[in-house]
Amino acid sequence: MLSFAYEALPARVIFRAGALEDLPHELARLGSRALVLATPEQRPLAEQAAGLLGSRAAGVFAEARAHVPIETARAASAEVRRLSADCCVAVGGGSTTGLAKALALELELPILAVPTTYAGSEMTPIWGITEDGLKRTGRNPRVLPRTVLYDPLLTLSLAPALSGTSGINALAHCVEGLYSEAANPLTSLMAEEGIRALSGSLPRIVRAPQSLEARSEALYGAWLGGAVLGAVGMALHHKLCHVLGGTFDLPHAETHAIILPHAVAYNAAAAPQALRRIASALGVEDPAQGLLELARAVGAPTALKDIGMSRSALERAVELATASPYFNPAPIRADGLRRLLENALEGRRPGT
Ligand code: NAD
Repeated sequence: MLSFAYEALPARVIFRAGALEDLPHELARLGSRALVLATPEQRPLAEQAAGLLGSRAAGVFAEARAHVPIETARAASAEVRRLSADCCVAVGGGSTTGLAKALALELELPILAVPTTYAGSEMTPIWGITEDGLKRTGRNPRVLPRTVLYDPLLTLSLAPALSGTSGINALAHCVEGLYSEAANPLTSLMAEEGIRALSGSLPRIVRAPQSLEARSEALYGAWLGGAVLGAVGMALHHKLCHVLGGTFDLPHAETHAIILPHAVAYNAAAAPQALRRIASALGVEDPAQGLLELARAVGAPTALKDIGMSRSALERAVELATASPYFNPAPIRADGLRRLLENALEGRRPGT
């Protein structure tokens, strides 16, 4: 019998090739002087956005860094005050959106996000700030971007390898959303459609990175993944990736690509209905194996030992991942996690 709670998150979404041109018109709904944020690598794009905004651009701050160091957030907030900005535009991936969220948290600045990766942060009220090597995270509706412009043209420059791993990150939001504690009919529909869109488009992007059709499909899947992540909690996969990334400094997107098939195999017996939906969206019989093959098809790494994890770190990872309780369909047990991590370390078939 159906039983669920669902809360819609308010956001205006514009999706089309060329949506960046809508920036001046869309910004007018949010404020009159925007600070445009980007990473140093994406400064030219931020300047293009500021050029489109003309006098409504207060300035460009192209210092966004991975995991939002508090020093960067403080420097950006000083820029907002100095330039009397009343809103911000985040042009880039999860790191840039993350910086905008830190500003929104402190200064209640409305955000217009222009995502250029598949991370999906633009659809969530989740923020993260790193201080003294520790990343604090939280949920606050204030940090949810008010408007999101999805322009697939801006993703054409995302390198094929990064597209593949960033896309699998988005797929992981959909997969865990299907067996989340808070799963509901609407987010499950979005999750299934997201898996279909991403698994179909990512291998095509790796073969033909300039295919606007495949780019558009992947960005659509990333939007769905972000919306699922924003609406329901995640489980084992995200917990493990957080532990591995935070404690052993493993690269975020690659870690997601490696762990996902193993987390799915771990939950196979406890969440059979969700796994059937994942398999059907992937168009395969065995979802864990299907996800491993997808990782191979996009050229993502499939063994933790290949991205810098050593066998000696395994026990510590098991300890950290079992230290505090969190929801997962299958009970979290040290022996099961040890087997999962050993398989992931060596790149073995999931669930063996
Ligand atoms: P990123 O934002 O760190 O970008 C990676 C690199 O790619 C950067 O150098 C960036 O400038 C470059 N880049 C981005 N788009 C490009 C493009 N189209 N063409 C060329 N280069 C481009 O990476 P990410 O994977 O988007 O974000 C990862 C971060 O986002 C992590 O810190 C993660 O924790 C966070 N995240 C947060 C949420 C949330 O809900 N809060 C959700 C997902 C991810």
